[in-house]
Amino acid sequence: MKLLEERIRKDGIVKPGNVLKVDSFLNHQMDVNLFNEMGKEFKRLFSDCPVNKILTIEASGIGIACIVAQHFNVPVVFAKKTQSINLDGEIYISNIESFTHKRSYDVIVSKKYITRDDHILIIDDFLANGCAVQGLIELIQSAGATVEGVGIAIEKGQQPGGTMLRSQGIRVESLAVIDGMNDETGEIRFR
Ligand code: 5GP
Repeated sequence: MKLLEERIRKDGIVKPGNVLKVDSFLNHQMDVNLFNEMGKEFKRLFSDCPVNKILTIEASGIGIACIVAQHFNVPVVFAKKTQSINLDGEIYISNIESFTHKRSYDVIVSKKYITRDDHILIIDDFLANGCAVQGLIELIQSAGATVEGVGIAIEKGQQPGGTMLRSQGIRVESLAVIDGMNDETGEIRFR
């Protein structure tokens, strides 16, 4: 998506450790007009899928997911990050290795909000090693629901997440795919 690539080029900041900062329009301050264009594009890309729910993960996926959901006219569920695990049987749980924070954490979703009848589109801001999305897929599978696909704003193609998910037969659509970044020059290459 040209608009998103141009914005990343203009306002994205490359940090050491293969991290792209997009705090000025996506991860901290949020450009909702841009999100709206992203929502339109995800709707076009997944127009053949019977999506009845969107699943994302707190915190930075929520803003994008809400605007995308308006285009699909469906509710959004976000997986909650938790340290204290409530094992009362009312939740689905999976463990995620964090790329940005280099630690693992549990995410939960109430059994009330994902059921076997659901056809779910996963939405997230970044795809790097794929752990976050894999954790969400596990939650959906625990519920016996269907993964219709994965919509990502920024895929870092130099990391293995995209290949790993596509090799499982999961449909992944990314609006911008980065091929490489240089934290000394600030250069960002797209696929
Ligand atoms: P993964 O689980 O695919 O390795 O990483 C995905 C998660 O890590 C995303 O939800 C995102 O919050 C975060 N993330 C991964 N890479 C980056 C990055 O380069 N910049 C930012 N801002 N977040 C990232």
